[in-house]
Amino acid sequence: MSTIFEKIIAREIPAHIVYEDELVISFLDISQATEGHTLVVPKKAYATIFEIPDDLLAHTIKIVKKISNACQKAFHVEGLNILSNNGTIAGQTVFHFHFHVIPRFSDQDVIFKMSNRMNEVTTDTYKKRALLIKEAL
Ligand code: AMP
Repeated sequence: MSTIFEKIIAREIPAHIVYEDELVISFLDISQATEGHTLVVPKKAYATIFEIPDDLLAHTIKIVKKISNACQKAFHVEGLNILSNNGTIAGQTVFHFHFHVIPRFSDQDVIFKMSNRMNEVTTDTYKKRALLIKEAL
């Protein structure tokens, strides 16, 4: 079954496309979290970052920068968020890997709840967590 983004790529359903090349497409997110909220999507569907090949990811992030620069210019914003949800637990709803580019007009227009747990984590815990990641590389 094809993803909704594959349907956009195939022009089976409409979208407000802002950029396209042989590997990547970029169009407005239908939900517009903020003015200009744009998605950058590799044309070949990989569900998450765990599957996408490095070279395609590298090209995709280059286009994320291009779209970010365009959004900065178009909407006169000083900042934006670049976001990729991977997996249901992380809030992913379309299982076709993509980046969100979300221009920010105030510090209240999008609420990301990332708790600061600095005071809860001991030096030993940091060390153990870093070691787990290093060993997995
Ligand atoms: P995520 O939840 O990170 O997987 O993001 C999927 C995004 O795709 C959501 O922000 C949706 O609003 C957006 N979306 C779903 N359907 C469409 C569509 N037909 N055109 C544009 N954006 C869409």
